[in-house]
Amino acid sequence: MPHVEICAETCKGCALCVRACPKKILRLSPTVLNQKGYSPSECTDPSACTACRSCALTCPDVAITVYKD
Ligand code: SF4
Ligand code: SF4
Repeated sequence: MPHVEICAETCKGCALCVRACPKKILRLSPTVLNQKGYSPSECTDPSACTACRSCALTCPDVAITVYKD
């Protein structure tokens, strides 16, 4: 199943991936803070991911890896 892995410690919470996702399944975590004090991006519905890679291509910090299966 397509899915994304987001490195919470690399993420700086800029939300560019949140805006880039056509499925609207990414958000900044309402509960998690990373070591740098940012709310990292997380996927709310992995089953809806199409592996389009928009999020990964948009992330300035290369924190997202997309898996097609
Ligand atoms: S790969 Fe596409 S559908 Fe999946 S989380 Fe990223 S932007 Fe959204
Ligand atoms: S674009 Fe990258 S750095 Fe910005 S919130 Fe998304 S994963 Fe984090």
